[in-house]
Amino acid sequence: MTLSSSDPAWFPLAVRLDDVPVLVVGGGEVAVNKVRLLLAHRARISVIATRLVADMRRWVEDGVLTHIAQDASDAAVRAAIPGCRLVYVATDDRALNRRIAAIAHDLNVLACAVDDPQPSSFITPAQVHRGVVRIAISTGGAAPVLARRLREQVEATIPDGTGALAGFMQAERERVGAACPDIVRRRRVWEAFLDGQGASAARAGDMARARDVLDALLSGDGPGGEVWLVGAGPGDPDLLTLRALHMMQNADCVLYDQLLSPDLLDRVRRDAELVFVGKRRNRHTMPQEEINAELVRRARAGQRVLRLKGGDPFVFGRGGEEIEALLHSRIPFQVVPGITAANGCAAYAGIPLTHRDCAQACMFVTGHARADGVLDLPWANMARPGQTIVIYMGVAALPVLCAELARHGLPDDWPAAIVERGTRPDQRVFTGTLADLPGLARENGVGSPALIIVGQVVRHRVVSPSIVAPSIASSSIASPHDASRTDP
Ligand code: SAH
Repeated sequence: MTLSSSDPAWFPLAVRLDDVPVLVVGGGEVAVNKVRLLLAHRARISVIATRLVADMRRWVEDGVLTHIAQDASDAAVRAAIPGCRLVYVATDDRALNRRIAAIAHDLNVLACAVDDPQPSSFITPAQVHRGVVRIAISTGGAAPVLARRLREQVEATIPDGTGALAGFMQAERERVGAACPDIVRRRRVWEAFLDGQGASAARAGDMARARDVLDALLSGDGPGGEVWLVGAGPGDPDLLTLRALHMMQNADCVLYDQLLSPDLLDRVRRDAELVFVGKRRNRHTMPQEEINAELVRRARAGQRVLRLKGGDPFVFGRGGEEIEALLHSRIPFQVVPGITAANGCAAYAGIPLTHRDCAQACMFVTGHARADGVLDLPWANMARPGQTIVIYMGVAALPVLCAELARHGLPDDWPAAIVERGTRPDQRVFTGTLADLPGLARENGVGSPALIIVGQVVRHRVVSPSIVAPSIASSSIASPHDASRTDP
C-alpha cells in the first residue's frame, strides 16, 4: 500500500466542544440545525446573519447564542474568525459560503460549508448514539441519501441498551483494573463479559446481575454457557428480528434444522460452528431427546448455543420441550420469537388471516399424522364458517384434510390455498377449493415446506406489485374473488 497525500478521504475525529468558540454564518433553517447540534454539545456560538429564524432569536434572547453581526462581509468575517476554532457556513448563497470558507482557511481555522464538501476542511457526519457510544457515518458528501440509509441500518442493529452497557463498563473500569492488573487477562475478562449474560443484563438495566457476572469472571470462574432458542422466521432474511440477528452474530455454535434457508445461515457469525440437527418426516436426523441433550452438553461446556428454528419456536417448533429440558438441567436460556409461517405466508401471498366480512377467528393446526397414520384433529371445530384454518405440515395429508373438512360440513367449493416456500424468492401460491386443491397441488408437484390456508379469506386475496418483492409479485398477481386462479 502506498501512502498518497492526494487521497481525498476524510479523516474521522471526535471533538470535544464544551465552551469551544464556534462561528456560524447564516441564520436560516440549515444553520439552525447546526446550531442545535452545537448547543447540545455546549459550544460557545457566535452568529453572523442578516436575519434569524425564530429558534435562533429565542436562543439569542436566552443568552446561549451571540448575534455578533448582520452582514457577512469579508471584513466582518475576517474580524470574527480568529477568535474561533471552527466555522460553519450555512447561508443560502453557495458562492458566499465558499468565499468565507476560503477566508477561514487563510486564517488557519477549520471551516465547513454545509452541504458543500469541496471548499470544506471538515464535515459533520451523521451519527447514531447510545449514551456515550457514538457511531459516525459519512460518505464524505458523496451520497447523502446512502449515508442516511446506512445510518438507518446501523441504528437498527445497535441494541438500545448499548449506552447502558458502555456506562456500566465505564463505571467498573477502575475496579476491574485494580482486580486484574494483567492487561491480557483483563481484556479476556471484558470479552467474556461482553459475550455472555453480563452484557445482556447490563443492556437490560439489571446492573446488580451484570456486577455478579463480572465478579464471577474476575474471581476466575469461566463464563457459563447458555442457550438461545430463536425463531428465524419463514425464510426471507429480512424477516429476522433484530434480536435474532444479534444472537446469530454472537453465538459460539448454531443448531439448526432443514427449515433454515442458506440465506439465513449466511447471517451467522463466520467462525460459529454450524450443526445440522434437522428432522424430516419419518427420517429423523437426530431425535428430539438427543437434540435436548446436545443443547445441555454444549451449554455446560461454556458455549453460547443458538438453537435456531424456522418460524417461531413456540409454534409447532417443539420449543416447549427444549426449554423444559434446559430448565431441568439448570441451563440459563432465552427465547426469541420469530414470524411464524402463517404470518409470513399470508402476508407474502396477499391472503389476510382474518377479515371483518368472513373470518372472526383463525386456528393453527398441524396436519402431521400420528405414528399410526391417523390424523387426530378437532374436525367439528375446524369445519365451521366464520374462521380461517391454517394447516402446518399438511402437504402429505392434503387429500385427507380436504375430504374430512368436507365430510364434517364445509361445502366442496369452500376456498383453500397452499403456499409453498412462502416468503422465499421461489414462493408459489395455488388457490382453489376443498374439492380441487389436492389435485392442483399434486399436478404442480407442491412439496414441503408448504402451508395450507382454508376459508373465505382466500377469496380476498390481493397481491399488489408494490407491496411484495418484484420477483414474487410478477408470478403471483391474482384478482380477488378469483378462487380458481393458480400460479405461477
Ligand atoms: N415453527 C415453525 C413451524 C414448524 S412446522 C413456524 O412457526 O413457522 C413446519 C411447517 O411449517 C412446514 O411443514 C410448513 O407447513 C410450515 N412452514 C414453515 N416455513 C414455511 C414456509 N417458508 N412456507 C410454507 N410453509 C412453511
